[in-house]
Order: sequence, then C-alpha cells, then structure tokens
Amino acid sequence: MYFNNQTTIFLDGKWTKAAEATTDLYTQSLHYGSGVFEGIRAYKTEDGAKIFKAKEHFERLHYSARKMHINLPYSVEELEKLSYELLVHNQLEDAYLRPLVYLGQNMALQPTEEVHVMLCAWSWDRYLGDQLLRVKTSSFQRPNPKSCFVEAKVTGHYTNSILATTEAKQKGYDEALLLDMNGFVAEGPGANFFYEKDDVLYTAPLGNILAGITRQTILELCNELGVECREKFFTAEDVYNADSAFFTGTAAEVAGIASLDDHTFNLKWEDSLGYQLSLAYQNRVRKKEYKLFELV
Ligand code: PMP
Repeated sequence: MYFNNQTTIFLDGKWTKAAEATTDLYTQSLHYGSGVFEGIRAYKTEDGAKIFKAKEHFERLHYSARKMHINLPYSVEELEKLSYELLVHNQLEDAYLRPLVYLGQNMALQPTEEVHVMLCAWSWDRYLGDQLLRVKTSSFQRPNPKSCFVEAKVTGHYTNSILATTEAKQKGYDEALLLDMNGFVAEGPGANFFYEKDDVLYTAPLGNILAGITRQTILELCNELGVECREKFFTAEDVYNADSAFFTGTAAEVAGIASLDDHTFNLKWEDSLGYQLSLAYQNRVRKKEYKLFELV
C-alpha cells in the first residue's frame, strides 16, 4: 500500500527504490522509539502540486530533532526542495509525505551521532474517512509534558496513540479522545479536537497537546471568517452538550464527529461550523477562493 516497485524514496542523500532500501536492526530508534517524523500533505492545485505549510512542518521537524538531541543535517529549505523532488520522482500531486529521521546503532540511553533521513510519499485518502465518527473517551491519558516533550513529534510517543485507538475500536467506536493528566480533554491519537457550542468553537490550549499545524490553520480561518474560537480547558462532560465537534490533522484534515461516549451532538454536521471550516480548509489547501462559502 505504501510503496511498489516503482516507488522512489530519499534516503541519506540518495534517491533509492523503496523496494531495495534496507535498514539496520540495531538502531536506537527501532529499540527505544527515539526518532522524529512529520506528516505533510501535498495538494494538486491550478499551479501544480503544492505542499501545504511545508516550512511549518519542517520547522517542527527541526524542533522535534533538537528536543531529542538529534543533529538533523538538512535545513528547512533543503527539506522543502527535496520534498518537491520526491513528488516529481513519484509522479505524485495529491500525496501524503512522511519525512522520518532515525538513529543508528546505540543500545545506550544517550544521544546517537549516526542520523538517517528518509523522505517518502504515497497517495493517502483522508485518514479517519469521510463518515462522521463515533468517538470514545479513552482510558489512556496523553503523555504528561513532564515525561516528554509533547510538542515534539517523536516516533515513540505514538505507542500511546496506538493503545488509545485500539481500545476505542475494540469497544466498537471509530476513534479515541484522550484526556490530559488533569482530566481535561486534550486531543485525539493523531489529531486535535474542537467542539462547537452556541456558535463558539472551543479547543484545548497548547501545553498538553501537539501544536497541530491544521489546528493553527483552523484558528486562522476562524479569525478570517469571524468565527469565535476560544482556547480553554474543558471536560468530556462539557462536550456531551456540544452542538458539533471535529478532529483536525494533516492526515485527517477536518473530520466531523457524530458523538462522544454515545452523546450525539445537536446539529447536523452540514449545519455546523466544523462543516463550514472543512470547506474553507479544502479551499485553503487547494489555493482556491472560499468566497463561495457563506457562514451562517
Ligand atoms: N495531535 C497528534 C497527537 C498528532 O499526531 C497530530 C498529527 N500530526 C495532530 C495532533 C495534528 O497535527 P497536524 O495538524 O500538524 O497534522
């Protein structure tokens, strides 16, 4: 699904066939989860493929690497240029790009000098799909910011996400919603969370969540469209009475939610602010005007 015999990846300075690339079994990243990565989307636009907020994503990759004491040998500009080359090599326009920075051999719990950089891309439908999601509050909390850098996109952090999504699916739901260490709603396993009540949107403040680039785009769109969005702490019970809710993420884009813990939201998705923002988001990433959309 992620590659075939034609797929080309960038690995340590060379363009290589994905099917022929190999890796070491003794790496610190494989054993201890100390790698950093990004999830980025490119969109087909009237001006060709455009990588949405490439600079922001690669700046976050640098931030994640710094926090994990990883010496990333490419600048933001170089990574951006390589990413466009990656799309050309693979003849992709609408694509999901996955830069991964992983470490070499080291079984000690110390920084590793050997650093590998891999860039790959594939066509990926909207993660979480197009159906409204039935969401369950997770028994797993998001990692405490005193246990790791929650704003860094570190491979090992995703064991928490895998546990949460698996639990939700085993209980018959589509996705999990995780609380922070104080019991306030934090975010999904791979997406930020918003809810709407009385024409106002609410989302968790930064601090205990990944600072999503889509979340930031939604805040910018709210500002431009005159939608009030408040960043504040709230509980799952606050969400039970919401008018609507949605997840945001590069892979998920804007994903509407039907219910939390079987409490169905008051508005039809098509009548919600989230729906309007999902249209505005598509127009932003595809660089079209969103003047056609009128907010109610
Ligand atoms: N939270 C988590 C835990 C994530 O993995 C992601 C996906 N990167 C997000 C939020 C959304 O971030 P972004 O909008 O930058 O993709």
